[in-house]
Amino acid sequence: MLIHLPHERAERPFPNRRPGRHGRSRLARSLATAGLFLLTATAAFAQLEDVKIEAESVGEGLWVLFGAGGNMGASIGDDGTFLIDDQFPPLTERILAKLVELGSDGTPRFVLNTHFHGDHVGGNVNLAELGSIIVAHETTRATMMVETFNEAWEQIRQPVPNQGWPILTFTEGMTFHLNGDDVHVFHVDPAHTAGDCVVHFRNANVIHAGDLFFAGKYPLIDTGVGGHADGVLAACERILELSDEDTVIIPGHGPVSNAAGLREYMDVLGRITERIRTAIAEGRSLEEIQAAKPTAEWDESWGTGFIDPPTLVFMVHRGLTKDAEAN
Ligand SMILES: [Zn+2]
Repeated sequence: MLIHLPHERAERPFPNRRPGRHGRSRLARSLATAGLFLLTATAAFAQLEDVKIEAESVGEGLWVLFGAGGNMGASIGDDGTFLIDDQFPPLTERILAKLVELGSDGTPRFVLNTHFHGDHVGGNVNLAELGSIIVAHETTRATMMVETFNEAWEQIRQPVPNQGWPILTFTEGMTFHLNGDDVHVFHVDPAHTAGDCVVHFRNANVIHAGDLFFAGKYPLIDTGVGGHADGVLAACERILELSDEDTVIIPGHGPVSNAAGLREYMDVLGRITERIRTAIAEGRSLEEIQAAKPTAEWDESWGTGFIDPPTLVFMVHRGLTKDAEAN
Protein backbone atom coordinates (compact mmCIF):
# COMPACT_ATOMS: atom_id res chain seq x y z
CA MET A 1 0.00 0.00 0.00
CA LEU A 2 1.38 3.36 -0.94
CA ILE A 3 0.56 6.52 0.87
CA HIS A 4 0.43 9.80 -0.91
CA LEU A 5 0.62 12.54 1.59
CA PRO A 6 -0.81 15.93 0.90
CA HIS A 7 2.37 17.59 -0.33
CA GLU A 8 0.78 20.97 0.03
CA ARG A 9 0.82 20.65 3.79
CA ALA A 10 4.51 20.06 3.91
CA GLU A 11 5.42 22.58 1.25
CA ARG A 12 2.82 25.17 1.97
CA PRO A 13 1.21 24.87 5.39
CA PHE A 14 -0.88 28.05 5.11
CA PRO A 15 -2.18 27.94 1.57
CA ASN A 16 -4.39 30.97 1.89
CA ARG A 17 -2.01 33.15 3.76
CA ARG A 18 0.14 35.51 1.78
CA PRO A 19 2.44 38.12 3.17
CA GLY A 20 1.27 41.44 1.73
CA ARG A 21 3.56 43.05 -0.78
CA HIS A 22 1.97 46.44 -0.83
CA GLY A 23 1.81 49.40 1.52
CA ARG A 24 4.58 48.31 3.86
CA SER A 25 8.26 49.09 4.00
CA ARG A 26 10.71 46.63 2.52
CA LEU A 27 12.08 45.92 6.00
CA ALA A 28 8.63 45.37 7.50
CA ARG A 29 7.81 43.07 4.60
CA SER A 30 10.92 41.00 4.94
CA LEU A 31 10.56 40.75 8.72
CA ALA A 32 6.97 39.63 8.31
CA THR A 33 7.99 37.12 5.68
CA ALA A 34 10.88 35.81 7.77
CA GLY A 35 8.43 35.28 10.63
CA LEU A 36 6.10 33.46 8.31
CA PHE A 37 8.95 31.30 7.13
CA LEU A 38 9.82 30.23 10.68
CA LEU A 39 6.19 29.51 11.47
CA THR A 40 5.89 27.69 8.18
CA ALA A 41 8.93 25.52 8.80
CA THR A 42 7.87 24.67 12.35
CA ALA A 43 4.30 23.87 11.36
CA ALA A 44 5.45 21.82 8.39
CA PHE A 45 7.83 19.75 10.48
CA ALA A 46 5.20 19.18 13.18
CA GLN A 47 3.00 17.69 10.48
CA LEU A 48 5.70 15.18 9.56
CA GLU A 49 5.43 13.24 12.82
CA ASP A 50 3.05 10.64 11.40
CA VAL A 51 4.72 10.26 8.03
CA LYS A 52 5.75 6.74 7.11
CA ILE A 53 8.28 6.03 4.37
CA GLU A 54 6.91 3.54 1.86
CA ALA A 55 8.85 1.82 -0.92
CA GLU A 56 7.79 0.62 -4.37
CA SER A 57 10.06 -1.58 -6.48
CA VAL A 58 10.85 -0.30 -10.00
CA GLY A 59 13.62 -2.74 -10.96
CA GLU A 60 16.28 -4.98 -9.45
CA GLY A 61 17.65 -3.11 -6.44
CA LEU A 62 15.79 -0.01 -7.57
CA TRP A 63 13.14 1.68 -5.49
CA VAL A 64 10.95 4.71 -5.25
CA LEU A 65 10.49 5.98 -1.70
CA PHE A 66 7.40 7.98 -0.80
CA GLY A 67 7.07 10.01 2.38
CA ALA A 68 6.26 13.73 2.38
CA GLY A 69 7.57 16.00 -0.36
CA GLY A 70 9.39 14.99 -3.53
CA ASN A 71 9.55 11.31 -4.46
CA MET A 72 12.95 9.75 -3.76
CA GLY A 73 14.75 7.10 -5.80
CA ALA A 74 17.23 4.55 -4.48
CA SER A 75 19.65 2.09 -6.06
CA ILE A 76 20.85 -0.46 -3.50
CA GLY A 77 23.53 -3.03 -4.27
CA ASP A 78 27.13 -4.19 -3.92
CA ASP A 79 28.51 -0.73 -4.67
CA GLY A 80 26.44 0.87 -1.95
CA THR A 81 23.35 3.01 -1.89
CA PHE A 82 22.71 5.80 -4.36
CA LEU A 83 19.87 8.02 -3.15
CA ILE A 84 18.00 10.56 -5.26
CA ASP A 85 16.65 13.44 -3.12
CA ASP A 86 16.03 13.30 0.63
CA GLN A 87 12.79 15.15 1.60
CA PHE A 88 12.76 16.87 5.04
CA PRO A 89 15.23 16.73 7.98
CA PRO A 90 12.90 15.00 10.49
CA LEU A 91 12.43 12.13 8.01
CA THR A 92 16.11 11.17 7.62
CA GLU A 93 16.03 8.50 10.30
CA ARG A 94 12.90 6.91 8.84
CA ILE A 95 14.34 7.05 5.31
CA LEU A 96 17.54 5.33 6.48
CA ALA A 97 15.55 2.65 8.33
CA LYS A 98 13.60 1.93 5.16
CA LEU A 99 16.81 1.73 3.10
CA VAL A 100 18.25 -0.80 5.60
CA GLU A 101 15.05 -2.83 5.35
CA LEU A 102 15.61 -2.91 1.57
CA GLY A 103 19.18 -4.18 1.96
CA SER A 104 21.25 -1.01 2.32
CA ASP A 105 24.14 -0.86 4.78
CA GLY A 106 22.62 2.29 6.24
CA THR A 107 24.38 5.34 4.87
CA PRO A 108 23.95 6.34 1.23
CA ARG A 109 27.30 6.54 -0.54
CA PHE A 110 25.95 9.25 -2.83
CA VAL A 111 22.96 11.56 -2.57
CA LEU A 112 21.94 13.24 -5.82
CA ASN A 113 19.70 16.32 -5.60
CA THR A 114 17.45 16.77 -8.67
CA HIS A 115 17.05 20.51 -7.79
CA PHE A 116 17.26 22.84 -4.79
CA HIS A 117 13.72 22.78 -3.35
CA GLY A 118 13.43 22.10 0.38
CA ASP A 119 11.29 18.98 -0.01
CA HIS A 120 14.10 17.42 -2.10
CA VAL A 121 17.23 18.53 -0.22
CA GLY A 122 16.02 18.85 3.38
CA GLY A 123 17.90 15.73 4.49
CA ASN A 124 21.24 16.89 3.04
CA VAL A 125 22.69 18.20 6.31
CA ASN A 126 21.90 14.99 8.20
CA LEU A 127 23.20 12.75 5.42
CA ALA A 128 26.38 14.77 4.83
CA GLU A 129 27.12 14.47 8.56
CA LEU A 130 26.82 10.69 8.23
CA GLY A 131 29.36 10.75 5.38
CA SER A 132 27.21 10.75 2.22
CA ILE A 133 28.64 12.61 -0.76
CA ILE A 134 26.04 15.16 -1.88
CA VAL A 135 25.98 15.76 -5.65
CA ALA A 136 24.02 18.30 -7.72
CA HIS A 137 24.13 20.57 -10.74
CA GLU A 138 26.26 23.66 -10.09
CA THR A 139 23.22 25.97 -10.36
CA THR A 140 21.34 23.88 -7.81
CA ARG A 141 24.25 24.28 -5.39
CA ALA A 142 24.45 28.03 -6.07
CA THR A 143 20.70 28.43 -5.52
CA MET A 144 20.85 26.52 -2.21
CA MET A 145 23.39 29.04 -0.94
CA VAL A 146 21.16 32.10 -1.25
CA GLU A 147 17.71 33.34 -0.25
CA THR A 148 15.18 32.82 -3.05
CA PHE A 149 11.68 34.11 -3.67
CA ASN A 150 8.74 31.96 -4.69
CA GLU A 151 6.73 34.38 -6.87
CA ALA A 152 3.57 32.27 -6.97
CA TRP A 153 3.15 32.19 -3.19
CA GLU A 154 5.13 35.35 -2.41
CA GLN A 155 7.33 33.40 -0.04
CA ILE A 156 10.96 33.98 0.80
CA ARG A 157 12.95 30.78 1.12
CA GLN A 158 16.02 30.66 3.31
CA PRO A 159 19.33 29.22 2.10
CA VAL A 160 20.21 25.60 2.92
CA PRO A 161 22.71 25.44 5.83
CA ASN A 162 26.23 25.16 4.45
CA GLN A 163 26.73 21.63 5.83
CA GLY A 164 24.10 20.50 3.31
CA TRP A 165 25.63 22.06 0.21
CA PRO A 166 26.71 19.57 -2.46
CA ILE A 167 30.46 18.98 -2.41
CA LEU A 168 30.46 17.58 -5.94
CA THR A 169 28.85 19.45 -8.86
CA PHE A 170 28.56 19.08 -12.62
CA THR A 171 27.68 21.37 -15.52
CA GLU A 172 26.31 19.24 -18.37
CA GLY A 173 26.12 15.84 -16.75
CA MET A 174 27.92 12.92 -15.17
CA THR A 175 27.63 9.14 -14.98
CA PHE A 176 27.67 6.91 -11.90
CA HIS A 177 28.83 3.38 -12.65
CA LEU A 178 27.38 1.35 -9.82
CA ASN A 179 25.21 -1.60 -8.88
CA GLY A 180 25.42 -3.02 -12.40
CA ASP A 181 24.12 0.11 -14.10
CA ASP A 182 25.34 3.24 -15.85
CA VAL A 183 23.38 6.01 -14.24
CA HIS A 184 23.50 9.09 -16.45
CA VAL A 185 22.59 12.35 -14.77
CA PHE A 186 22.11 15.33 -17.06
CA HIS A 187 21.10 18.95 -16.75
CA VAL A 188 18.29 20.50 -18.81
CA ASP A 189 17.70 24.14 -19.73
CA PRO A 190 15.69 26.19 -17.16
CA ALA A 191 12.37 24.43 -16.59
CA HIS A 192 11.00 23.78 -13.07
CA THR A 193 14.06 25.67 -11.75
CA ALA A 194 17.33 26.62 -13.47
CA GLY A 195 19.25 23.67 -12.00
CA ASP A 196 17.06 20.66 -12.76
CA CYS A 197 18.60 17.34 -13.68
CA VAL A 198 17.24 14.03 -14.94
CA VAL A 199 18.56 10.68 -13.68
CA HIS A 200 18.62 7.87 -16.25
CA PHE A 201 19.32 4.29 -15.17
CA ARG A 202 20.30 3.13 -18.65
CA ASN A 203 20.36 -0.62 -18.06
CA ALA A 204 17.29 -0.77 -15.84
CA ASN A 205 15.34 1.55 -18.20
CA VAL A 206 14.23 3.73 -15.31
CA ILE A 207 14.20 7.54 -15.27
CA HIS A 208 13.80 9.83 -12.26
CA ALA A 209 12.43 13.08 -13.69
CA GLY A 210 12.51 15.16 -10.49
CA ASP A 211 9.97 17.97 -10.53
CA LEU A 212 10.04 18.28 -14.33
CA PHE A 213 7.13 15.87 -14.10
CA PHE A 214 4.14 16.05 -11.73
CA ALA A 215 2.16 12.92 -12.58
CA GLY A 216 -1.52 13.79 -13.01
CA LYS A 217 -1.29 17.21 -11.35
CA TYR A 218 -0.48 20.77 -12.37
CA PRO A 219 3.21 21.47 -11.74
CA LEU A 220 4.98 24.14 -9.76
CA ILE A 221 7.09 26.25 -12.12
CA ASP A 222 9.48 28.31 -10.01
CA THR A 223 9.62 31.52 -12.05
CA GLY A 224 11.60 33.35 -9.34
CA VAL A 225 14.65 31.23 -10.16
CA GLY A 226 14.29 30.95 -13.95
CA GLY A 227 11.44 28.44 -14.20
CA HIS A 228 9.44 28.48 -17.45
CA ALA A 229 6.64 26.31 -18.88
CA ASP A 230 8.36 26.06 -22.27
CA GLY A 231 11.46 24.76 -20.48
CA VAL A 232 9.41 22.12 -18.66
CA LEU A 233 7.96 20.95 -21.98
CA ALA A 234 11.38 20.88 -23.64
CA ALA A 235 12.85 18.89 -20.74
CA CYS A 236 9.97 16.40 -20.89
CA GLU A 237 10.62 16.01 -24.62
CA ARG A 238 14.22 15.01 -23.82
CA ILE A 239 12.94 12.45 -21.30
CA LEU A 240 10.50 11.07 -23.89
CA GLU A 241 13.33 10.68 -26.41
CA LEU A 242 15.09 8.37 -23.94
CA SER A 243 11.96 6.37 -23.22
CA ASP A 244 10.19 3.44 -24.78
CA GLU A 245 6.88 1.92 -23.74
CA ASP A 246 8.60 -0.13 -20.98
CA THR A 247 10.45 2.76 -19.37
CA VAL A 248 9.53 3.44 -15.76
CA ILE A 249 9.34 7.19 -15.20
CA ILE A 250 9.44 8.41 -11.62
CA PRO A 251 7.86 11.85 -11.26
CA GLY A 252 8.87 14.34 -8.58
CA HIS A 253 5.31 14.17 -7.27
CA GLY A 254 2.55 11.65 -7.88
CA PRO A 255 2.55 7.91 -8.57
CA VAL A 256 5.14 6.06 -10.66
CA SER A 257 4.39 6.62 -14.34
CA ASN A 258 5.60 5.92 -17.87
CA ALA A 259 5.90 7.49 -21.33
CA ALA A 260 2.12 7.54 -21.82
CA GLY A 261 1.65 9.36 -18.52
CA LEU A 262 4.36 11.85 -19.41
CA ARG A 263 2.83 12.46 -22.86
CA GLU A 264 -0.54 13.20 -21.27
CA TYR A 265 1.07 15.68 -18.85
CA MET A 266 2.88 17.38 -21.74
CA ASP A 267 -0.34 17.58 -23.70
CA VAL A 268 -2.21 19.27 -20.84
CA LEU A 269 0.60 21.69 -19.96
CA GLY A 270 1.33 22.37 -23.64
CA ARG A 271 -2.27 23.24 -24.51
CA ILE A 272 -2.65 25.48 -21.47
CA THR A 273 0.63 27.24 -22.30
CA GLU A 274 -0.48 27.88 -25.90
CA ARG A 275 -3.81 29.31 -24.74
CA ILE A 276 -2.03 31.69 -22.38
CA ARG A 277 0.53 32.65 -25.06
CA THR A 278 -2.32 33.50 -27.45
CA ALA A 279 -4.18 35.52 -24.81
CA ILE A 280 -1.02 37.52 -24.04
CA ALA A 281 -0.54 38.22 -27.76
CA GLU A 282 -4.14 39.48 -27.86
CA GLY A 283 -3.27 42.00 -25.16
CA ARG A 284 -5.12 40.41 -22.25
CA SER A 285 -3.97 40.99 -18.67
CA LEU A 286 -3.11 38.24 -16.20
CA GLU A 287 -6.36 38.87 -14.33
CA GLU A 288 -8.38 38.59 -17.54
CA ILE A 289 -6.62 35.37 -18.49
CA GLN A 290 -7.19 33.87 -15.04
CA ALA A 291 -10.87 34.88 -15.19
CA ALA A 292 -11.24 33.20 -18.61
CA LYS A 293 -10.16 29.87 -17.00
CA PRO A 294 -7.95 28.49 -19.78
CA THR A 295 -7.41 25.34 -17.70
CA ALA A 296 -11.09 24.63 -16.93
CA GLU A 297 -11.45 21.30 -18.73
CA TRP A 298 -8.61 19.72 -16.70
CA ASP A 299 -9.16 21.38 -13.32
CA GLU A 300 -11.25 18.64 -11.78
CA SER A 301 -8.43 16.11 -11.86
CA TRP A 302 -5.22 18.07 -12.56
CA GLY A 303 -6.06 21.10 -10.42
CA THR A 304 -6.54 19.30 -7.12
CA GLY A 305 -2.88 19.01 -6.13
CA PHE A 306 -0.92 21.74 -4.41
CA ILE A 307 -1.02 23.97 -7.52
CA ASP A 308 -4.51 25.36 -8.08
CA PRO A 309 -5.63 26.63 -11.51
CA PRO A 310 -5.07 30.39 -10.97
CA THR A 311 -1.57 29.69 -9.61
CA LEU A 312 -0.69 27.59 -12.67
CA VAL A 313 -1.94 30.37 -14.96
CA PHE A 314 0.11 32.91 -12.98
CA MET A 315 3.32 30.88 -13.34
CA VAL A 316 2.91 30.11 -17.05
CA HIS A 317 2.01 33.77 -17.72
CA ARG A 318 4.96 35.01 -15.64
CA GLY A 319 7.46 32.96 -17.62
CA LEU A 320 6.03 34.05 -20.96
CA THR A 321 5.87 37.74 -20.05
CA LYS A 322 9.42 37.69 -18.68
CA ASP A 323 10.42 36.70 -22.25
CA ALA A 324 8.71 39.83 -23.55
CA GLU A 325 10.39 42.03 -20.91
CA ALA A 326 13.78 40.66 -21.95
CA ASN A 327 13.23 41.49 -25.65
ZN1 LIG B 1 10.52 21.31 -6.85
